[in-house]
Amino acid sequence: MNFGAIKGFIDHFRNDPDLKPKIKEIRRMITATFIWMIIAEIVIVIEPYPLKWFFDSLFGRPPQNGIYSFFGVSLQNWLYFLCFLLFAVYFFGTLLHTEMGKRRNRSFWNLWAMLWGYGHYRQLLLGTDWHVAHSTGEKESTLDKNVAKVETLIDDFIFDTAPMTMRVILVSIFIWWLGWHFGILSLFTLLSYSFVMFKNEKAAAPFRKEFRKEMKRLEIDGSELDKNWRTLKQFGLEKEQCDDHVKLLRNFCENERKRFKFFIYRIANQEHVVTFSRAILYASVVFFFISGDSPGSIALAFAWMERIYSNLYRVSNFQRHLNDGAEALKELKGMFDEIPSVRSCESAVWKDGIKGGIHFENVTFSYPNNIEKEAIKDLNFAIEPNQCVALVGYSGSGKSTIASLLLREYDPAAGQVLIDGVDLKMLDYDRYRRELISVVSQDVELFDDSVLENIRIVKRSASKEEVEFAAKRAYAHEFILELSNGYDTAIGEDGIRLSGGQKQRLAIARALLRRAPILILDEATSSLDAVSQSYIQKTIADLIIERESTIVIIAHRFSTIMQADFVVVLENGAVKEIGTHEELARQNGIYNRLRELEAKGMFNI
Ligand code: ADP
Repeated sequence: MNFGAIKGFIDHFRNDPDLKPKIKEIRRMITATFIWMIIAEIVIVIEPYPLKWFFDSLFGRPPQNGIYSFFGVSLQNWLYFLCFLLFAVYFFGTLLHTEMGKRRNRSFWNLWAMLWGYGHYRQLLLGTDWHVAHSTGEKESTLDKNVAKVETLIDDFIFDTAPMTMRVILVSIFIWWLGWHFGILSLFTLLSYSFVMFKNEKAAAPFRKEFRKEMKRLEIDGSELDKNWRTLKQFGLEKEQCDDHVKLLRNFCENERKRFKFFIYRIANQEHVVTFSRAILYASVVFFFISGDSPGSIALAFAWMERIYSNLYRVSNFQRHLNDGAEALKELKGMFDEIPSVRSCESAVWKDGIKGGIHFENVTFSYPNNIEKEAIKDLNFAIEPNQCVALVGYSGSGKSTIASLLLREYDPAAGQVLIDGVDLKMLDYDRYRRELISVVSQDVELFDDSVLENIRIVKRSASKEEVEFAAKRAYAHEFILELSNGYDTAIGEDGIRLSGGQKQRLAIARALLRRAPILILDEATSSLDAVSQSYIQKTIADLIIERESTIVIIAHRFSTIMQADFVVVLENGAVKEIGTHEELARQNGIYNRLRELEAKGMFNI
């Protein structure tokens, strides 16, 4: 049994301070559900009891002169009364069941919502290194698919297995009261069924593991097809790529056929136990009569034993869901237990009125997946508040890495990034990102929502006027008004209904809405159309002139670079040259070589 995985998972939730109030509420809900479940199941188990009276009245003691002596009531009337009693008990049982169903439903959806929301939150909390190391398909599979499996487990448990198990247990206790021989038969049935079931599950475990592994591979492969749909279409690779996927699917089906063959015979063994027990029950009727059981007791024993037989299979189903669910829980817990590589330290501080001075002091850094290579080597440079610096260098020289360190996507291996003299690691991580820094990346990520919401996402309290003001500063207002619904236009997944330049301008508007003291701009390269390029350049020029923030530009055009207060030229992660445009232009260094290349139109830095 995989109860260890479930316990580990529950312990994780119990120990998370963020979840304490929610856990308390859910525990209360589940306890109430279980109380209702026990009451409803007790009633369901005693439901057929009036059958005993019915049959005993009819066959147990023959009526004398048509009158049954029970309280002087006639047999006919007594049977009417028993029928009414049966109806009343079943009716009451159904009402209780309905009430229990309502509570189970509430508990289920609350648990589901908590798990789903918490899963996304934990995944987002993880560091950039984790997100880089896991593909979208893998993440989907780890979170969405595993949550779905846990849901099935919870669903199966609270809607099916828990009540059915309770029913089987209650019946097998109550039946002893009818006679020890009935008790022995139910005990024999339960023990032999459980024995065969556990043996089967043990034998099936490696098959299930293999199944999960193959399914995960399929899911990741399928999601790659979904994600890269445009490339596949552009290169006409739909069929070729799908054929590969189909090969994987066929292979899976073939393995599944073998697995199913194995399971189906094993499951048949479980059913044979039930058949055998049923045969004993029917064959023993004469023995029951001889040993003095009344017809009512025998009828009730049959009804109760049928409750055991018909529910055993459902209980055994739980074992399968338990195994799948436990594996999913283990994977989810592995993700939940992962500690984000970057987070606020316990002694984090906050300083009001930070102006945005930046100082890279002897900073060295390697990416976690390539620790041998130093992406940044002993980096030293300082930017005064409201100054603008341009980072320049060949591709791979470390410009984006500097932006990453500034955004605290990673922490340096050595040295410090100081913000107004405070080590970035010591600053409250959440407040730093929410209040001090804003970024426009080259790869713009947009939500499948309206233009307005895509800009407003960084400041939910912003009024429409504020959003429009930011859009005007980003030279985006005009084109937004031309869209079918203006600011309310839905832009599709990743802004698919917008051009590259429009997306970039939305991203700039979003960053400007934040009005953060530090702004990182990764200047878009030649992928943009000329009109968008000129608008973006205008925005950058305005921002530099306004001097409202400290600006770090990963610059690709000399027209931009020339406006910066100074330029940092990087090579292989180290500062090679530093100074104003004029100073660097006088040297015979990388800066000038890059300028010459750009002038010849041969190189877009
Ligand atoms: P630039 O922005 O100047 O083109 P980067 O800062 O992106 O350069 O890259 C600096 C070095 O770090 C390069 O050698 C690049 O291959 C490496 N690098 C960048 N991102 C990663 C990553 N996520 N994992 C491992 N290495 C990386």
